[in-house]
Amino acid sequence: MLKFDLIKTDPDSHARRGTLTLNHGVVQTPIFMPVGTYGTVKGVMPRSLHDMGAQIILGNTFHLWMRPGLDIMQSFGGLHQFEQWDKPILTDSGGFQVWSLGAMRKISEEGVKFASPVNGDKLFMSPEVSMQIQTILNSDIVMQLDECTPYWQGEKGSGHITTEAEARVSMELSRRWALRSKNEFERLQNPNALFGIVQGGMFEHLRQESLEALVEMDFPGYAVGGVSVGEPKELMLQIMAHTPHRLPQHKPRYLMGVGTPEDLVEGVAQGVDMFDCVMPTRNARNGTIFTRYGDLKIRNARYKADPQPLDPSCGCYACAGSSGVSWDDGGRDGFSRAYLHHLDRCGEMLGPMLTTVHNLHYYLNLMREVRESLEAGQFSALRARFKSERARGV
Ligand SMILES: [Zn+2]
Repeated sequence: MLKFDLIKTDPDSHARRGTLTLNHGVVQTPIFMPVGTYGTVKGVMPRSLHDMGAQIILGNTFHLWMRPGLDIMQSFGGLHQFEQWDKPILTDSGGFQVWSLGAMRKISEEGVKFASPVNGDKLFMSPEVSMQIQTILNSDIVMQLDECTPYWQGEKGSGHITTEAEARVSMELSRRWALRSKNEFERLQNPNALFGIVQGGMFEHLRQESLEALVEMDFPGYAVGGVSVGEPKELMLQIMAHTPHRLPQHKPRYLMGVGTPEDLVEGVAQGVDMFDCVMPTRNARNGTIFTRYGDLKIRNARYKADPQPLDPSCGCYACAGSSGVSWDDGGRDGFSRAYLHHLDRCGEMLGPMLTTVHNLHYYLNLMREVRESLEAGQFSALRARFKSERARGV
C-alpha cells in the first residue's frame, strides 16, 4: 500500500511537504534515505539509525540476490526481519548493478544475461525476475527494472557521449520494462508499492515522452533515474529543473542517486520528495565530513589537536555525545576533531563509525530543517541561509 498526502506547497518554488504512508510506517517528506546495500547501512547500528531520525532506508536487490540469496531471505520472511529494521525499506531493481558489470553482461529485449561476480554462475535478470526478488524481500517500495542510460558510452577515452538515438532506444526499452514490471508485480499480488522510473538521458523531450507513458500506466509513485551518471553538473541541474515538477502532483517523486547537500536542497525546490545517495556514508569512510559550514577533511593535519567536534552546531552522537547538546550550545560531550583524526590515522573502526553517524545525521537533519521551513512558509529563507552558511567554510 501507499498513500501520499500533500500538507503544504511552497509558493516560490516547486517544493512540497508531505507524508508517505507505507506498509511499515509513515515517512515525512522531503526525506533522505540512507543506503544499506547488503542489508546494512555500513558501520551503523539500526538503533543509531532510529536515533538520528532515519525513516526509510534502501536495500540493493542485486547484492541481496547474490548474497545471502533468496532462500535465506524467504526463510526470514523478507529483509525487515533479516536485518532487524521495522520501518519502511525501498529496494532498487538491481538493474543498475547488472548494468555496471560492463563486459560481463548481455542486454536483450527479454532481460540481461550475466555471470555472477560472486561465483561465476550464469544468471538472468528481467523485469519479472526483479519483481519476484523484490516480492521476497518484501520492501515497502519496489522499483521497476530499467536501463540506466549512461552519459558516456563505452570506455572513457575511446567512447562517446550518448546520442539522442541511443538515449531513445534505451528509454523505450525501460518503458516496455515498466509495463512488464507492473504486470508481474500485480500477478504476484505484491502488497507494497511499485514506482516507475523516468529515463531519457539528457534530452528533455525524451524525458517528457517517458514521463507521459509512465503516467499513463498509473504508478503510485515515480522516480527520475539516469541522473548523476557522469554528466556535467549543469546538465544534471537542467534535468532536475525539467522533470520532477512535471510528474503528477499527488504522487511521491524520487530522484535516484543524488547527491550533495546542495543538490538535495535544489532538488526539493524542483519538487522532489525523496532522495538517496551513498555520498554521506561513503565519504564518511574516506574522511570527508559534511557540516553546516562546509566540508571538512578529517585527515588534514590542521585537526591534529583541535578540541572542537566535527560540526559545533550538530547534536549527533559523534558531535554532542550522550547529552545531545551541541558544542555551540555549551555541550562538551562530543568527540573532538583531534580524536577522530587520531582514529583515522590508526585505522580504528570507531573512526568511520562516528563519521558515518555524523554525515547521516547531517543529511537527515538538513531534510528536517527543510520540512520545518516548508511548514512555516520559510523555505526561501532557509535556502538563502543554507547557501551562505555552507559557503562560510569550516
Ligand atoms: Zn554531528
